[in-house]
Amino acid sequence: MTADEMIRAFDVLVANPKCELEYSSPYQLLVAVILSAQCTDKRVNIVTHQLFADYPTPEKMLKLSQKKLGELIHSCGFYNSKAKAILDMSNDILSKYNGQIPDKLEDLISLRGVGRKTANVVLSEAFKKDALAVDTHVLRVSNRLGLSSSNNPDIVEDELKKFFPKKNWSRLHYQMVLFGRYKCKAKKPDCSNCPFQRNCKMFLNK
Ligand code: SF4
Repeated sequence: MTADEMIRAFDVLVANPKCELEYSSPYQLLVAVILSAQCTDKRVNIVTHQLFADYPTPEKMLKLSQKKLGELIHSCGFYNSKAKAILDMSNDILSKYNGQIPDKLEDLISLRGVGRKTANVVLSEAFKKDALAVDTHVLRVSNRLGLSSSNNPDIVEDELKKFFPKKNWSRLHYQMVLFGRYKCKAKKPDCSNCPFQRNCKMFLNK
């Protein structure tokens, strides 16, 4: 399939792609994406509903100790490392960027606790820039569709960006995430009527 054919197929499969994390500022989106590692967006939204009501800004978040923040986000898993990442990131936002979330990739990934995937999600979602974040779903779908054979997210990101036009990157990110989350699942994907069957290594090897 050409890039255009794939774009058209994703537009049919996921007609209204959107971020499922709830937030009301770029800072809160950063926190939510950090919490979403190895956790469902549904669980993150349950936790952040109260967290963001009480601690909506980096200044307020830094009133929490790592231990207390860990207790509040416990159900998201990896709560110690996530609490540290959120507090480190909040400190850097205040000390390096005067409390403003930067809108450049190199600045975002300079923040402690913020990796390339998190930065790309914030760029596309909060700042509406062309960015293509590679999470576990995007990586799996890319591998199955033969868009990349790498399991390194940075390499997959490069290969996807070369294949698809820039103006489609952000939309495709969400389409691939939602396609991977609900149809092309890691285990027992729903291959019935999938438009990618002819291109799919997994389907062809069944
Ligand atoms: S055929 Fe199945 S495994 Fe392949 S892309 Fe479609 S849903 Fe995923």
